[in-house]
Formats: sequence, structure tokens, C-alpha cells
Amino acid sequence: MSRSAHPAGPRYADVHTEGHYSPPPADLNTLDEKVWSRTVGRDEDGVVTVAGLPVTRLAEEFGTPAYFLDEADFRARCRAWAEAFGKDADVFYAGKAFLSRAVVHWLKEEGLNLDVCSGGELATALDAGMPPERIALHGNNKSVHEIERAVSAGVGRIVLDSFQEMVRVAHIAQSLGRVQPVQIRVTVGVEAHTHEFIATAHEDQKFGIALADGQAAEAVRRALRLDGIELVGIHSHIGSQIFDMAGFEVSARRVVELLAAVRDEHGVELPEIDLGGGLGIAYTPEDDPREPHEIAKSLTAIVTRECESAGLRTPRISVEPGRAIVGPTAFTLYEVGTIKPLEGLRTYVSVDGGMSDNIRTALYDAEYSVALVSRRSDAEPMLSRVVGKHCESGDIVVRDAFLPADLAPGDLIAVPATGAYCRSMASNYNHALRPPVVAVKDGGARVIVRRETEEDLLRLDVG
Ligand SMILES: *Cc1c(COP(=O)(O)O)cnc(C)c1O
Repeated sequence: MSRSAHPAGPRYADVHTEGHYSPPPADLNTLDEKVWSRTVGRDEDGVVTVAGLPVTRLAEEFGTPAYFLDEADFRARCRAWAEAFGKDADVFYAGKAFLSRAVVHWLKEEGLNLDVCSGGELATALDAGMPPERIALHGNNKSVHEIERAVSAGVGRIVLDSFQEMVRVAHIAQSLGRVQPVQIRVTVGVEAHTHEFIATAHEDQKFGIALADGQAAEAVRRALRLDGIELVGIHSHIGSQIFDMAGFEVSARRVVELLAAVRDEHGVELPEIDLGGGLGIAYTPEDDPREPHEIAKSLTAIVTRECESAGLRTPRISVEPGRAIVGPTAFTLYEVGTIKPLEGLRTYVSVDGGMSDNIRTALYDAEYSVALVSRRSDAEPMLSRVVGKHCESGDIVVRDAFLPADLAPGDLIAVPATGAYCRSMASNYNHALRPPVVAVKDGGARVIVRRETEEDLLRLDVG
């Protein structure tokens, strides 16, 4: 079965999560290339390898649970996005998906720009030497301190989220003697057929200024009058894990209508349009994401066509993929602890991590796949639920998946496509120690974010 909308949430999708699972693959040892990063394979002993490194050795050296990030794949995806959009567009990696200093270096080297949405992300970007003009600052409630820091660092753009913030940014920039380039984030009234929590462009939400009722037009009017800011474009982000271009089509059309209205009223053609991120990836073999070049082609065509019919010059387009770059590049490696078969129902497989390293299943009903990776097995498929070790029955990592029936404590299993929104949303629930992120490349492995220690926990607890 293939589908164009991910059943991230039963409320918005036409597929029910409960009781829905794919049939077992013909061979449980097969690693579907849709969900595994590019350098993953199985060696002749049946052990899964990444960048030539067997996971058994990685587990010994780095422990479990741990995230292993395929650096060559990450870089290849950056290049694919940059090349697909070309010189007349800008690709901003959404740092909230996963950010570390090593990631910033890779982005810098591969020619991408970077979205940050907090002081912490900004600090990471600046510390790792991201040129400030390649950074954009987002957020619906940026603090005065965050704005000051961004303006004085000279970030390339601040995406304004409200009327209040517009005045704040203008005031801060003036007092620092700067003129800050800004975009206005509008909500276009598109519900991108995804989960309520991650669909962010219908109007009943905290982000952005509504196009409806002339709100966005009023925001433009005020922005053009304020000293300290230079309005360079309009921004729209319609949601996450989107497979279908229809939402972008509607969104682009509405943003272009605003650009035309701005030209008619003020005689100004704003030079930039940002269509946000939200492009879907394959979490399970059933998902069918599009390639960057297809996305680039269709977004560019949509904007160009709409601008032509409105008699506008085509503005410079930018996009902000996070998940689509980092998501497929990493897997989480776990060790199997206890196994609890429930006759006629399913088998609960407990691993040494859980909702502290992957909250997406609990938070969004996200779907994942899983595989036994420390050996081959020709045992029968066993309907399994992979759960963590937290004190919460919703602590589920993979709701429904098939694992071999001879699975045993001590086996290693891995969940692919955990590069985005897993480490970045990780928590210390139950005083769990957040897992490391290990970058693997050409037979080498290096820790880029180390494992948390009990000292780390106790250092924050001042007694
Ligand atoms: C979250 C977010 C993104 C990235 O979303 P992905 O689903 O990771 O591509 C891009 N832009 C904005 C404004 C966001 O809030």
C-alpha cells in the first residue's frame, strides 16, 4: 500500500494508526533503502554495518542507546538540496531538527544556510563559525536578549512573528545603529493534512500573522514605515511531514497575492519569498517522499507561474528543510532487555532507551520501523511493540513492527530515520542520560555529542 499523506495522526489522516501495521516483509533481514541511510548494509556474518563499521563494534565502543549519524549521507543530502534549488534560491537547514557544532561545519562546507529558533541554537551556530549573514532567526516569542544577540551578530534575517515583535526588533536595531533585514511570517490558512500538533498554517495557532482580515497587509504597512528594519520578504511554513505539493501550491498562491497587493498599495516589490520546511521523509517503507529536485522544480514552477499571472518579478525563493536533510541519516541503536510475549496479541520488546530518546511516537503517533541488526535470523516474524524503560505505558518507540521470533535479550536492534527531532527533543525523564550522537564516515566513527553522565545530571542539581 502506498499513500501520499502520512498517518501522523488518526485525526487528520485517512488511515487509522491503531491496529494498522504493514505486513511482515518477505525477509526480515532485508534493509529497505528508503528508511536506512546510504552507507548501511549487512556484512557476510549478517551484522549490519554503517560506513563499513559493524554495529556490534559500535555498541562496544560507544554503548547503547546511541544515535549513529551517516555523515556522507548528511552531506549528500545538503548538496542535493543546494543543487536542486540552484543559485537563484536559498536552502536554510532547520537547526531545530538536530543541531551540533559538527553539523554547523558540514552546513558551512556544503553551502547551506541555517535557521535557528532560540538563543541556544544561535549560540551553537555562532560558536561553530557559521557566517551570521547565513543565519535566520525564527520563533514566536523571541526574547529581547535573543533579538539583541541576533541583531548585533548581524544575522541575515529575522523572521517576524507578531506586531509586537516587529516594534521590538526595530527598536533594538535602531539602538544598535543597525538596519535589520526581516521577513514577515504569515499564516495562509492551509491545513497540510498532517497531525494537529505539527500542522502550523491554519489560523488557529500561535505562529505568524494571518493573511485573513488584512492582518498581514497591515503588518507590511507598519514594517515599511518603521526605521531599523528592512522588509525583504514574506515567509510561510505550512506544517511538517508533508508529501503532497498541494499545500505549498495554495500557500504560494496566497503569498504571491499579498506580494501583488503590496506592490499595488506601496509600489514596492518585495524581493524574497520563503516557503518554509515540512517536506516528508520515509519512516516506514510505505512512505513515498519526493526527491529534492522534484520539490525544487515544482515549487519554483508554482511561484513563477503565480508571479507571472500577477505581473510580478519572481522573487528569490528560500526553503527550510530540517527533517528531509537529517532525518534519514541516522538510526538509534538499542540493546534488547526483556521480552514479554502476550499470546495472540503481540510481544513487548523492551530496550535500554525509550521516550527520552524518541518522543515522537508518544507525541505524534509517529510510525517507525525496526530491525534486528546484530545478526541475521531466519526465524518466523513476530508482531512486536518496541517499548522503552520509562515509567509510562505510553513509552513506545515502535508501535507495531515485525521482529524475528528468536529475538533474545542482548540482541541489538535499530530504529532507522531517527536523525530529526529525536536527539533534539530528548529529555532526562526518569533521570535518563541522553544518548550520544556518533558521526560515522568512511570506516571511522567520532562522537559529536557525547553521552550525558550522572555528573552532568548532578551538576545541575545544586542541592
Ligand atoms: C520546523 C520548521 C522547519 C523545518 O521543518 P521540517 O519538518 O523539519 O522540514 C522549517 N521552518 C520553520 C519555520 C519551522 O518551524
